Amino acid sequence: MPRDPSMPVSISTLYVHDSVKSLPWVKTIQSKLSLSPRIITDVQDAYADLLKDPDPIARGKHTMVLTRNRGAFVKACPGTRAYNCCGYKILHVGTYCTMDCSYCILQAYFHPPVLTFFVNLDDMLAELKQVFGSPGIHRIGTGEFTDSLIWDSWTDLSKILVSAFSKQSSCALELKTKTADVSALEGLAHHRKTIVAWSLNTPRVIAAEEQGSASLSKRLAAACRCQGEGYPLAFHFDPLVIYEGCEAEYIGVLDQLFASVHPENIVWISLGAFRFPPELKPIIQKRHPNSRLIYGEFIRGLDQKMRYFKPLRIQLYREMVKRIRETAPETTVYCCMEDDAVWEQALGKTPRRMGGIKGMLDAAAEKMCGLKRG
Ligand code: SF4
Repeated sequence: MPRDPSMPVSISTLYVHDSVKSLPWVKTIQSKLSLSPRIITDVQDAYADLLKDPDPIARGKHTMVLTRNRGAFVKACPGTRAYNCCGYKILHVGTYCTMDCSYCILQAYFHPPVLTFFVNLDDMLAELKQVFGSPGIHRIGTGEFTDSLIWDSWTDLSKILVSAFSKQSSCALELKTKTADVSALEGLAHHRKTIVAWSLNTPRVIAAEEQGSASLSKRLAAACRCQGEGYPLAFHFDPLVIYEGCEAEYIGVLDQLFASVHPENIVWISLGAFRFPPELKPIIQKRHPNSRLIYGEFIRGLDQKMRYFKPLRIQLYREMVKRIRETAPETTVYCCMEDDAVWEQALGKTPRRMGGIKGMLDAAAEKMCGLKRG
């Protein structure tokens, strides 16, 4: 039976790295989970336990590791040189997710994937302080290796981040999610430096491919609540799935979106057609046998990922861009991981003509979040 997305996922095993066991966050998370932790001196010990499970990818969604981030918290997004890249920065707060989308790249990215939270938050805040003081404008998101809001079930992560970003004016934080519980974001003095963003899809794709996520109407209701709290909003149509009748259904989602929130509160809308690295295919086949996603016709892109044929992508982008421009002519729209030819045909211009995607998105954040160049 599909999991009720309004209920937090149950964590059955908690590992705590010996080096962080006395940090305050560990005690808080431990008591919220009501679990006695297994203390480990090497995270590989947790991975070795997980790999004994017949489905370690599923087990990793019920296993949590609390440890220290020994690397950088703020990193450049691993975009690819072959396609237009937007200069996004990732805030690496933790990894993995409680939901179970068939196409989730994290299933293949980590070996094994496991819910991991970096409890050395003081180091994270110190690093952010340096970024806040660095020249230029920065767009920083936590939703690359995890869903941004899942951690609020056990931590005050959103509260801490929203507060830190509210006290500076050169960086925008983007919290990207497929959940609908935004209670942790309510009543915070965000000063519009946090953008709350939803990944959207058609109800058909959500039901078939995004197990454990909130329904479209619940995501849009949550966006409306955040709009009421004064947050700037963003929406990502990624992955766009091509199937018979998809254009009408995606236009329907856009219509529902614009009936739920005011276009003037939307910082950007991104469009990205489904693409996957070949190594994800056997995982989808094994773990999501009912998924039809990978059985379309695909070609290998310059980044080695499998993609729909260019004319099919362009056709869907064009129809969606047309509807967005009819209703929200001022809203910034961009294509994720596409080349100049696709941009030209889908959006009528190349990023270069608009100052590059980075320039375009920085300008949108500057305007909507009141950013000033550091
Ligand atoms: S919500 Fe995002 S991170 Fe979570 S399973 Fe789906 S694609 Fe992966």
